[in-house]
Amino acid sequence: MTGTLIIAHPLEPHMTVITSPRERECERCGRRDSWDGDDETWRIAVVDGEKQAGNPHCLHEWDINGTFNPVDY
Ligand SMILES: [Zn+2]
Repeated sequence: MTGTLIIAHPLEPHMTVITSPRERECERCGRRDSWDGDDETWRIAVVDGEKQAGNPHCLHEWDINGTFNPVDY
């Protein structure tokens, strides 16, 4: 079997959401992260080979909504 296995349980449709990539972007400096579900951590997004790291001194203001708020250490 090849390709990506997508698990969709009819009684638990939210299970598919957990495996979906999530992204967040800082409204102040433009830093972009994507959620790594395997390691359960945010990773800096890479666009065209460039890390979207933004300003390292920025107190990031993420544009994510309130439905997903992992603790950010
Ligand atoms: Zn920022």
